[in-house]
Amino acid sequence: MLIRVLPEDHGYFLRNIKLFHHKNLLFWDLKGSAAVFEYFCAMLVLDGKIAAAAVKESLKTKTAALGANGKRKPHLAAILVGNNGASETYVASKVKNCEETGFASTLVRLDENISETDLLQTITRLNEDPSVDGILVQLPLPKQISEQKVIETIDPTKDVDGFHPVNVGKLVQGLSTFIPATPYGIMLMLEHFAIPTKGKHAVVIGRSNIVGRPMSILLSSNLKQGNCTVTICHSHTPNLKELCLQGDIIVAALGRPGFVTADMVKEGAVIIDVGITRVEDSTAKKGFRIKGDVAYDEVAQKAAAITPVPGGVGLMTIAGLLKNTMQAYEQRVNG
Ligand code: NAD
Repeated sequence: MLIRVLPEDHGYFLRNIKLFHHKNLLFWDLKGSAAVFEYFCAMLVLDGKIAAAAVKESLKTKTAALGANGKRKPHLAAILVGNNGASETYVASKVKNCEETGFASTLVRLDENISETDLLQTITRLNEDPSVDGILVQLPLPKQISEQKVIETIDPTKDVDGFHPVNVGKLVQGLSTFIPATPYGIMLMLEHFAIPTKGKHAVVIGRSNIVGRPMSILLSSNLKQGNCTVTICHSHTPNLKELCLQGDIIVAALGRPGFVTADMVKEGAVIIDVGITRVEDSTAKKGFRIKGDVAYDEVAQKAAAITPVPGGVGLMTIAGLLKNTMQAYEQRVNG
């Protein structure tokens, strides 16, 4: 695969040469003038296990130091309503990751039929509890409950999911805030693998409040992993393939398994697959397999870098949540 690298991206390749070697990508070469270098190399897997472990390790060290100084740990409270299988898995994983990082966690399990009033009261109690730093309510919620009311009831200073309008407003204005965990995790992954973003064209597919829209804001912001020109696509975008073909970076967050195919991707693009869909499969132990929004095998042939599903963005989402919980703790303790 041929990747054209501008001088400003040169550092990325030099910093990652060990990684390319590690992945047996020994076949690389450098040609060209002072203006443009050309490298030959194969595709880089953006492994969420590696990037998330690095984030968790640094948080673990910080938390251990707090304990050594006689300070309390950061504390995340998660609310799970009902018995949705996927939600159970996500919340269990969040709690487990808190434990592994040395954080305290509380899981509040509520009945599927709980009234909206009772749920809002539970959130208010956690808002008022000085030992709780971060609160998350696992979505989706049963029909009788307004998700918007729930989001707006969480104290913005404990809103580690970053969904409260106050925090979204701050994000748009480039102020310090809680960044929604999935887009935050993606930014952390881009940073970990030193993926160049400045001046790139990023195509984001999906405009949801939890992934697509905040992702488009972050990538277009004046941040180390931002400064992209961003196109945001959605279900009413007529010329999606044409737009995707212009993308140096594609973020697929639409929830349609295998939607992004090789013919929609240009050579050397960076592909971030956010999709998580359970697809029935009688040959799988659990009766289903997790599929992303990208047709991985064929797209990987053209991509410079790609996230796997599972093992990519999902793990980074938890890393983003843990970072937000530490931030909430520090703001509470240090003022
Ligand atoms: P959503 O249903 O809220 O939004 C989907 C978006 O995709 C919408 O904006 C819609 O306009 C757009 N869309 C749908 N069909 C389209 C099409 N044919 N062409 C272009 N755009 C189209 O979904 P969401 O909550 O943003 O989640 C998207 C996917 O990401 C889902 O698979 C979800 O499970 C997954 N997800 C993963 C993580 C993670 O941690 N990896 C976190 C959140 C969501």
